[in-house]
Amino acid sequence: MNIVVLGPPGVGKGTYAGVLSKKYDIPTISVGDLFRRAIKNQTELGKKIKSYVSSGNLVPDETVIELVKSRLEEDDCKNGFILDGYPRTVPQAQAMMKFKKIDVALNFIAPDEVIMERIGGRRTCNKCGAIYHTKNVPPTIEGICDQCSGRLVQRADEKPEVIKNRLEVYREKTQPVADYLRKKGLIADIDANYPIEEIEKIISQCKKHLQNIK
Ligand SMILES: [Zn+2]
Repeated sequence: MNIVVLGPPGVGKGTYAGVLSKKYDIPTISVGDLFRRAIKNQTELGKKIKSYVSSGNLVPDETVIELVKSRLEEDDCKNGFILDGYPRTVPQAQAMMKFKKIDVALNFIAPDEVIMERIGGRRTCNKCGAIYHTKNVPPTIEGICDQCSGRLVQRADEKPEVIKNRLEVYREKTQPVADYLRKKGLIADIDANYPIEEIEKIISQCKKHLQNIK
């Protein structure tokens, strides 16, 4: 089964993809990871990507398409995959329809306030990188890492005003992609407005959409 996951930052896409990937024994392909790996391995494509990223520009569609297409042709994807971080634009979605048949796009939805709270409550240890949440995963002593006694800080991109902006950018950019896929009959909306302890409620909605796909 060939699956695409869509949803705003902080909705938990990566977590759900991980669970589904184990359950159906298909790899999760994260475009962010593909970028990082190509840059690290200094491939031709990697060098191009690095020049865009380091100058603060978006990687152009044709480069992203080439990278994703060649990754999906690898052996481990022959029984299916879960694609995270692609398509981000309508041309990317159109290209995808040509090079791979997509069975479903799981579209994870949660209210902005919920996402703001999830990301806004995150605290990261500045020494060992452990991640906490002021409400959901609090440290024993406020502001101090349980594991290494490092100081817990809020990352710059997890501050409320920044998250708000990230959500706005997400909507503006990906709404046309979701509209396009919906017209093609590929979108399955998933209500992701559940706390992490109730993740099974989210996964079971996905399973329902996936049960008829080979
Ligand atoms: Zn720590």
